[in-house]
Amino acid sequence: MASELEPEVPAFDQSLPECSAEKTAGKWLQATDLTREVYQHLAHYVPKIYCRGPNPVPQKEDTLAQHVLLGPMEWYLCGEDPTFGFSKLEQANKPSHLCGRVFKVGEPTYSCRDCAVDPTCVLCMECFLGSIHRDHRYRMTTSGGGGFCDCGDTEAWKEGPYCEKHELNTSEIEEEDPLVHLPEDVIGRTYNIFAIMFHYAVEILTWEKESELPADLEMVEKSDTYYCMLFNDEVHTYEQVIYTLQKAVNCTQKEAIGFATTVDRDGRRSVRYGDFQYCEQAKSVIVRNTSRQTKPLKVQVMHSSIVAHQNFGLKLLSWLGSIIGYSDGLRRILCQVGLQEGPDGENSSLVDRLMLNDSKLWKGARSVYHQLFMSSLLMDLKYKKLFAIRFAKNYERLQSDYVTDDHDREFSVADLSVQIFTVPSLARMLITEENLLTIIIKTFMDHLRHRDAQGRFQFERYTALQAFKFRRVQSLILDLKYMLISKPTEWSDDLRQKFLEGFDAFLELLKCMQGMDPITRQVGQHIEMEPEWEAAFTLQMKLTHVISMMQDWCASDEKVLIEAYKKCLAVLMRCHGGFTDDEQPITLSICGHSVETIRYCVSQEKVSIHLPVSRLLAGLHVLLSKSEVAYKFPELLPLSELSPPVLIEHPLRCLVLCAQVHAGMWRRNGFSLVNQIYYYHNVKCRREMFDKDIIMLQTGVSMMDPNHFLMIMLSRFELDQIFSSPDCGKRVNSELTHKDVVQQNNTLIEEMLYLIIMLVGERYSPGVGQVSATDEIKREIIHQLSIKPMAHSELVKSLPEDENKETGMETVIEAVAHFKKPGLTGRGMYELKPECAKEFNLYFYHFSRAEQSKAEEAQRKLKRQNKEDTALPPPVPPPFCPLFASLVNILQSEVMLYIMRTILQWAVEHNGHAWSESMLQRVLHLIGMALQEEKQHLENVMEEHVVTFTFTQKISKPGEAPNNSPSILAMLETLQNAPYLEVHKDMIRWILKTFNAIKKMRESSSTSPVAETEGTVMEESSRDKDKAERKRKAEIARLRREKIMAQMSEMQRHFIDENKELFQQTLGLDASNAAVLDHSPMVSDTTLTALGPAQTQVPKQRQFVTCILCQEEQEVKVESKAMVLAAFVQRSTVLSKNRSKVIQDPETYDPLFMHPDLSCGTHTGSCGHIMHAHCWQRYFDSVQAKEQRRQQRLRLHTSYDVENGEFLCPLCECLSNTVIPLLLPPRSACSRLNFSDQPNLTQWIRTISQQIKTLQILRKEESISNSASSKNSENMDELQLPEGFRPDFHPKNPYSDSIKEMLTTFGTATYKVGLKVHPNEEDPRVPIMCWGSCAYTIQSIERILSDEDKPLFGPLPCRLDDCLRSLTRFAAAHWTVALLSVVQEHFCKLFASLVPDVYHGDLPCILDIDMFHLLVGLVLAFPALHCQDFSGISLGTGDLHIFHLVTMAHIIQILLTSCTEEDSMDQETPAGEEELAVLALYKTLHQCTGRALKETPSGWHLWRSVRAGVLPFLKCSALFFHYLNGVPSPPEMQVSGTSHFEHLCNYLSLPSNLIRLFQENSEITKLLIESWCQNLEVKRYLEGGRDAVSYPRESNKLIDLPEDYSSLINQASNFSCPKSGGDKSRAPTLCLVCGTLLCSQSYCCQTELDGEDVGACTAHTYSCGSGVGIFLRVRECQVLFLAGKTKGCFYSPPYLDDYGETDQGLRRGNPLHLCKERFKKIQKLWHQHSVTEEIGHAQEANQTLVGIDWQHL
Ligand SMILES: [Zn+2]
Ligand SMILES: [Zn+2]
Ligand SMILES: [Zn+2]
Ligand SMILES: [Zn+2]
Ligand SMILES: [Zn+2]
Ligand SMILES: [Zn+2]
Ligand SMILES: [Zn+2]
Repeated sequence: MASELEPEVPAFDQSLPECSAEKTAGKWLQATDLTREVYQHLAHYVPKIYCRGPNPVPQKEDTLAQHVLLGPMEWYLCGEDPTFGFSKLEQANKPSHLCGRVFKVGEPTYSCRDCAVDPTCVLCMECFLGSIHRDHRYRMTTSGGGGFCDCGDTEAWKEGPYCEKHELNTSEIEEEDPLVHLPEDVIGRTYNIFAIMFHYAVEILTWEKESELPADLEMVEKSDTYYCMLFNDEVHTYEQVIYTLQKAVNCTQKEAIGFATTVDRDGRRSVRYGDFQYCEQAKSVIVRNTSRQTKPLKVQVMHSSIVAHQNFGLKLLSWLGSIIGYSDGLRRILCQVGLQEGPDGENSSLVDRLMLNDSKLWKGARSVYHQLFMSSLLMDLKYKKLFAIRFAKNYERLQSDYVTDDHDREFSVADLSVQIFTVPSLARMLITEENLLTIIIKTFMDHLRHRDAQGRFQFERYTALQAFKFRRVQSLILDLKYMLISKPTEWSDDLRQKFLEGFDAFLELLKCMQGMDPITRQVGQHIEMEPEWEAAFTLQMKLTHVISMMQDWCASDEKVLIEAYKKCLAVLMRCHGGFTDDEQPITLSICGHSVETIRYCVSQEKVSIHLPVSRLLAGLHVLLSKSEVAYKFPELLPLSELSPPVLIEHPLRCLVLCAQVHAGMWRRNGFSLVNQIYYYHNVKCRREMFDKDIIMLQTGVSMMDPNHFLMIMLSRFELDQIFSSPDCGKRVNSELTHKDVVQQNNTLIEEMLYLIIMLVGERYSPGVGQVSATDEIKREIIHQLSIKPMAHSELVKSLPEDENKETGMETVIEAVAHFKKPGLTGRGMYELKPECAKEFNLYFYHFSRAEQSKAEEAQRKLKRQNKEDTALPPPVPPPFCPLFASLVNILQSEVMLYIMRTILQWAVEHNGHAWSESMLQRVLHLIGMALQEEKQHLENVMEEHVVTFTFTQKISKPGEAPNNSPSILAMLETLQNAPYLEVHKDMIRWILKTFNAIKKMRESSSTSPVAETEGTVMEESSRDKDKAERKRKAEIARLRREKIMAQMSEMQRHFIDENKELFQQTLGLDASNAAVLDHSPMVSDTTLTALGPAQTQVPKQRQFVTCILCQEEQEVKVESKAMVLAAFVQRSTVLSKNRSKVIQDPETYDPLFMHPDLSCGTHTGSCGHIMHAHCWQRYFDSVQAKEQRRQQRLRLHTSYDVENGEFLCPLCECLSNTVIPLLLPPRSACSRLNFSDQPNLTQWIRTISQQIKTLQILRKEESISNSASSKNSENMDELQLPEGFRPDFHPKNPYSDSIKEMLTTFGTATYKVGLKVHPNEEDPRVPIMCWGSCAYTIQSIERILSDEDKPLFGPLPCRLDDCLRSLTRFAAAHWTVALLSVVQEHFCKLFASLVPDVYHGDLPCILDIDMFHLLVGLVLAFPALHCQDFSGISLGTGDLHIFHLVTMAHIIQILLTSCTEEDSMDQETPAGEEELAVLALYKTLHQCTGRALKETPSGWHLWRSVRAGVLPFLKCSALFFHYLNGVPSPPEMQVSGTSHFEHLCNYLSLPSNLIRLFQENSEITKLLIESWCQNLEVKRYLEGGRDAVSYPRESNKLIDLPEDYSSLINQASNFSCPKSGGDKSRAPTLCLVCGTLLCSQSYCCQTELDGEDVGACTAHTYSCGSGVGIFLRVRECQVLFLAGKTKGCFYSPPYLDDYGETDQGLRRGNPLHLCKERFKKIQKLWHQHSVTEEIGHAQEANQTLVGIDWQHL
């Protein structure tokens, strides 16, 4: 046994407590060599305090350490008692105006979107609430730990840097040496002690030897005590570690979990203590066991004294951190000590040593010293700067350490970069003084050494290690981003120089990316392996913002911009300077133009999507235009060096590649290419990819002859053959041409036209067109909303975010959209304002294909709705900036016109040609654009200028030889009548109309010559005629269409109606029945009575129902085959008033009496769907068989648990676990004739008591005769059979076998689920559970109705109505399948609780009985007794008397427990009858209780509390008897309104003055009251010895939630795991039922439940909700439903942001507020017991939910 070997923890040295801090300090003050003195002290005491055994006791150690070790230091530092010393220092201190609060994991942090300089600037909750930003647009996140509050940092906030609390000292903000507030001597001593202690801590923490201490700490006598220390790594999983530990150190799984948890949290944990050998042995087992696949776990065998010193070292660092909190002066001294250069020169300061050893330290040590850095160096403005310099000098080394280390970034000192680099002044200083920009980029490049022959990055064939490194090295990009995040407002020459140096390095980086991952089209075979592409795109994506920020920096200074532009151009030329050998020059010519280019085919040669250098140049070029540098200093720019064909070449190739992929030419290259193309256009990348390629083409084209460009483009698209051959128009009259090739070419032509549209039309980048940034965003939003209305988050996702995660949307959204608030479900939506529709561009360049067609459809539909024509002409574009102005000439260039004419020609001769409508549509769009352009020109022309844009003239001319084609205009006119172009007619008409408008404009301005269009007049008139004709036809067509639509929808409705009928047939039988009853003339409205001899007689109704499975109809009859309803039985605590109560031992638990706290009930629900019992059996068997087969095949869960009898309703898929048989009112089945002479209550009780007595004697007799077989004549003599009582009579069961079987089935199911026991149909508790479930279900429904202020008998949902009816009738009939004697005994016992007899002692007192459960039990058990009674008393009489008796008991219960706070407002108006009566009754009670009852309150008050208290009981009773006897409800109670007390009483055959019950039966009531009051428990209660439930019981509600979600987050961040000592919980989860916070989804809080490990939530559901739970996962902002161990789902939380959206996972961080309606909805689900059902539906809808390990949450 391992544990025996381990030595006991030795007691602490007795000398320790006697060691005086003051004396030690005194000794130190005298010392000449203070260091030696202190070290000796430590060497002596530290091992005596720390690490004394296998399981350390940290609290004890820390107390001793404070006393023996830290105490002296504090005394020494202060020179007096530190309690006074420190408070003096604190008072003298001028506290800093920095908050600096270090965040805990999960703590809420706030960033102001309006004022924060960047998103890393955050406030703690306290500061936020006291700041101006509370009313700004803010974002809320939960901290991942680390980082601190930036309150008070003027560089972090554009406005409002201080909260109310930290604003105090801002007047004296001036840099002041904090040391002036300290006395000289204190400074000196502090300096001494800090220097020694800091040095000690650093030395011992970085100590690497395992059994030897530094010489000055070495002990004289050294024990052989070692620790086997296990270290954390991120390679091995929890499970691996736990498994290994169990093997290596022989511990239990629980201990192993404990070890693993600590290792994960602190970074190391000793797993064994003992002699060296013993520890070494454990080490080798661990190493051996973990070295197989990966590198082994790190284990060290360390001498206990080393561990002791290290533990103290950590303690010391935290101590230093807290000491400096007393005074800024102390902090400054610590900073000084830390940064002072050591004896070894460079990098030898303590701070340097810690940083440089960071990756060697374990997690716990790292976080302690990082925290110290944050509270010292980063809080002191002077030293922050010095520290920043140290950090920058070590930057390369720290990053390399981090890259090779395996811990997460948050545990690396490298992570402090965010604290330093985001401070603009520090960043600027580090750039100029330390050249950090260059260092970061070079460090980054150094880690990516894998290059191809051209020196480009190569990620192909990366090893796992390289891939790992690549992931980690990406954090450097983040550092770069931090450095650039705030743009300089002022430039010094130094900054310029260093920035440009950094820019050079950056260009080098981009150069390594230019052309990386080149691809070649695969022909013939499909590629064998998908090439690696993600790495390159990851890099691109991470750099996207950096690239944009580099441009922003350049834009802020003209000189820098010019230099950067030159550099970028030079690098681009180096990349693609001159074409390579295999790119031979060729000459292209069309329409008399010719141009030189190279022979290059995208489809045959290498092409790359990565062109960052070209794109950066494009970005800079736009900036030249935007900032007008291009016009101001043209001489400084190398514009003449620009070679447009070179500039456009690679971007054009890339765009052609996209077109070819779209045309299906690259299918064999697999998915990697498809993905790349996707990301190229994706919103995350496009800004620095696709968008810039378009701009680069625009740049190039604006500098060249558009004809030349178009020719090159045709060539790159590989379409030049088609367009240049003279008979291109007849290209497919030969059958030879392959169909695929035709299709391909068509797509390519479409794509090419689309590209031209984009080049001319996309002018919304500021600098390309004359627009502002907001215009650009507006346009994006307009186009997104043209597709469909969108929620805020959807819209945000579709817009590019800048480096601050802003889209700029909020500033413009109001201008273009309306907001529509959400309802109970769904989200708030933005809808496009109608006036913005005119800006819609069908060929918007950011549309995907799918979006484009959706938008087109939506816009056309809108136009039809507005009765407009459906043409979608191009919108009027903004003008180009001068640098790009010549782009418009593409539209009127000869090659363009030639292309247009060719395509129109194809369309005109539409038969033998391969053309497509999309092609034509694009040509029409281009023509439209040209017309818009010309119109604009004409409108804006100055007097003296000639409009050079003469598109209208050009399209009026016919084509030239050799084709001699008609003019474009003529062709359009032909096409507008073409029957095959119906869809495009509106557009053509729009073009012709616009053409005429322009013509008129030209004519009116006489200056410009207009070419005559031949035959215009004639055409005009014929066109008008045409138009009228077309309009008429269109109208006819529209009418016909509408008629057809109407017919269709009629048919559809009909279909639904038919099915609805069918549907309703199956479930609505009783509802229709009830309706018939209500209007039955036989029933008089006024005197409806639900029970008793006066019960309203209802004519028998025949019921026909249809089976949902076989569709056969059948009548419900006693003797026919059983019909059943699918039902779900569950345990419930929804009504519970005492959640701590659970059924301890279900096998022996006696459920006969329900306690009034309703702590655990059984609820039955049903979807109301009816089946034959045998049809259901067959269905269930097949489900079971299927499930068995499935489980063998794949080990998956289903949303339902077949083994536990669960199944889904075959019609509605509602979760069910049993069935309820359908029955007729059971009372009529066994009720005999009515007799006129019925006993009153007193007589009845006597009779029943006699009958009970008889039964008891007989029973005793039986048992004696059974056991002893000797007759006891004495008893037999005593036995006198009451008149008419025949205990030997056993009635015949009236039901068919099939019904009997179903009675048993449902009864057993209720028993099994309700008690959670194995099914046993003979258990005597089965009938009790059936009655209980009936009572509980009625009570829960009564509660829901009251809570919602609904009438008791209002229109209940069908399913509820059916369920209650079937359940009540079933419960009433169940006794017929139980053993008669068993039911009789239950009745006797229940009866004895109110009318005591000698046979039943030890029954609960009336305070501890729920009277409604008692009523249901008595009434439903009574027939078992009554069936043997032939004396002539009717069953109805019995029901009535039972009801009256229980009601009386309930009234007494209420009076006993009513809290009688005297209401001084009591009216002393003449008391009514009721008040006098209740007062009298109270007095009786007062006497009976021996005056223990409080003094008599007023009668009015009493009557009021009786009425209120009894009401729920009466309502439940009314429901019960209604369903039991089938008496329709009085119409007054079918509507809501007043409480209907009188109606209730009438219906229930009660006097409306309830106290009359007592008066009428005064004979017996006195006796009963006395017997009830004499119960000891009642006495105890009245004496205050115990509690009792009072009435009316209030409805349970879910807990109150705060309005602001962040207060919940805050609450949760203060919550620590209850099991692992103050550790923060990772997934704090709130139980919405009881408000308990739990540590969910974590090993630490797993417990065992029925032999399985379950998480805290699941465990909690068993105590709080009988297996059902409703939780809020606070970090995720997500509602969690759990049911049982395997079922669960997430549900949308009741918190919404201002845009009406939830934020599950808190990803967006918008402020969240409670939505009361949604919370009510969740509460309603709970009240209705629908949580399990909701889970079932969610799991059916989303199969992935089934696979989640819900029990571990
Ligand atoms: Zn703060
Ligand atoms: Zn503050
Ligand atoms: Zn603000
Ligand atoms: Zn059937
Ligand atoms: Zn159903
Ligand atoms: Zn925990
Ligand atoms: Zn709870």
